[in-house]
Amino acid sequence: MCNITTKDEFEKHIKRILITEQEIQEAVIKAGAEISKEYEGKPILLVSILKGSFVFLSDLCRAITLPCEMDFMIAKSYYNSTESSGEVKILMDLEHDISQYHVIIVEDIVDTGQTLSKLVPMLKERNPLSVSVVTLLDKPSRRTAPFNPDKTLFTIPDHFVIGYGLDCSEYYRNLPYIAEYNAEV
Ligand code: 5GP
Repeated sequence: MCNITTKDEFEKHIKRILITEQEIQEAVIKAGAEISKEYEGKPILLVSILKGSFVFLSDLCRAITLPCEMDFMIAKSYYNSTESSGEVKILMDLEHDISQYHVIIVEDIVDTGQTLSKLVPMLKERNPLSVSVVTLLDKPSRRTAPFNPDKTLFTIPDHFVIGYGLDCSEYYRNLPYIAEYNAEV
């Protein structure tokens, strides 16, 4: 869908900014402070669902004032499309044995809920001390699987969004804000 070679082509797909860099930073600081309070004295493992959550993870982990470990997982339910296939495949699993940790899954966006409604029970089977989910964005109107994140920084309407880790065909992850993608140009 996005075959981008020039700066003009890159910019013309950015329809409008939905969440500014400053709004994101304020919400991340607040979420980090809440997590630091809730998990004090507990062993934490932050689990980033790649690739979309890597920017959020890097800011969130620096807003958490507790010792914490990090691990990464690739679970795909999107294949260069703006629609979810509803199919979830684990392409890369965790390195950690999570049984000694309170696992905090760090997600970029909960859309249909298909990915996390399958991943969370799968991780619970590994007997962690607890599992919770913090998501930067939530699009509850798109849900096709029953799933509610424990912590949501922003609830958004049904738009395909890009930026702050979220891509369209691998582009736009480096935008410092969240924008609506314009597919019509
Ligand atoms: P779900 O399984 O909840 O439908 O979708 C989870 C994944 O779909 C997200 O982690 C993200 O990679 C992708 N996704 C869902 N909505 C959007 C969107 O608006 N923009 C982008 N770039 N990815 C999305």
